[in-house]
Amino acid sequence: MLERQERLATVMTLEQGKPIAEARGEIVYAAGFLNWFAGEAERVYGMTIPASAAHKRILVLRQPVGVAALITPWNFPTAMLTRKLGPALAAGCTVVCKPAEQTPLSALELGRLFVEAGAPAGVVNILSMHAPQPFADAVFNDQRVRKISFTGSTEVGKQLLARSAEQVKRVSLELGGNAPLIVFADADIERAVAGAVAAKFRNAGQTCVCANRIFVHRQVYPEFSAQLQAAVARLHVGSGLDPATSIGPLIDQAALEKVQRHVSDAQQLGARVLSGGGAAAVAGGTDLFWQPTLLADAAPDMLVSSEETFGPVAPLIAFDSEEAVLAQANATQYGLAAYVFTSDIGRIFRMAEGLEYGIIGVNDGLPSAPQAPFGGVKESGLGREGGPTGIDEYLNIKYVALSL
Ligand code: NAP
Repeated sequence: MLERQERLATVMTLEQGKPIAEARGEIVYAAGFLNWFAGEAERVYGMTIPASAAHKRILVLRQPVGVAALITPWNFPTAMLTRKLGPALAAGCTVVCKPAEQTPLSALELGRLFVEAGAPAGVVNILSMHAPQPFADAVFNDQRVRKISFTGSTEVGKQLLARSAEQVKRVSLELGGNAPLIVFADADIERAVAGAVAAKFRNAGQTCVCANRIFVHRQVYPEFSAQLQAAVARLHVGSGLDPATSIGPLIDQAALEKVQRHVSDAQQLGARVLSGGGAAAVAGGTDLFWQPTLLADAAPDMLVSSEETFGPVAPLIAFDSEEAVLAQANATQYGLAAYVFTSDIGRIFRMAEGLEYGIIGVNDGLPSAPQAPFGGVKESGLGREGGPTGIDEYLNIKYVALSL
């Protein structure tokens, strides 16, 4: 993957739209999961446990679950696949992958590399298709498929979880988010601005860990919003293949309409547009570009605060106290990622422990890494990908009771 980085990144940018620098970064990140789990493959240890009866022995084996069905979204077409493929193969499972309809080529390019690298036939199977239903029916009706790993919307994740009950298949779900990003008065404002830009505008705001609600302490609100406005003004909207581009197109018309609906709802409910606020015209481009948008005076009852916008729109919400912002941040059914910017060590621990999220970025707008456990609580998912526990999602534990 690293040798073919340029080709893989170019295919991704052409089909998904993200800036080429981000696509290159995704290939390195995606390859990182194969590297990490290649290492973990050597550590699928069992256990022996002392028994209380002298003639008994307790052995614990860890074995592959069986065939795993991997269903992935379009926003990180390569990384979401290797985050599942890496641990599945390392555990000893064979896989059937279904990439999103919008981004089959990135997955097929990766599949081609598996063939070239000598993966035995039938170990990595990638099926691109126009509709997900036949795939879902096939995997849910087949007893050989023992594991479903899904990354995508909460709505579809709930359907898959319900269907998995039919044959009691194991399920891992990486679902939607509604991440708060909280800037305290004691934060390094420059770092907080850089963190907000990374957490909000990467992939044109189409990430599950995207900062969806930006809470700013009232004392630093004017300074933070002025600096963020200046940073947003430097973002360049354009073709993903243009190296100057930092914001590419949205994935489709429905995505654009959702962003439009969220921005106009916010305006109607009293938010002020500080930057952007509408579609962007890109010479020779499609009509799927949206200007990076900054909304001041946002409030919790607006769609931008209550739903995942999945676009380059940053709503700023003022707050006065740590207790109040913690309660507001947790007031959502989602629990994937949260971000805190502060220099107070006590507050770092209070927030890290109090935020009901699976991932907390502390003075860090980009916390994802192959070595770290990634996943959510509440309606953001089940299970963890990456990190030392990622392989457990693809292993069964078998207890062998031995009587001497
Ligand atoms: P989606 O509609 O749920 O689709 C995701 C995948 O599921 C696609 O491959 C899709 O296939 C497939 N799918 C849809 N309906 C299905 C069904 N009934 N049975 C089986 N498969 C089905 O999600 P999306 O809108 O493309 O992706 C964006 C969402 O993913 C956002 O909510 C985002 O937050 C979430 N996400 C989460 C993470 C995470 O790690 N937590 C990471 C990235 C994205 P088709 O393409 O054929 O419809």
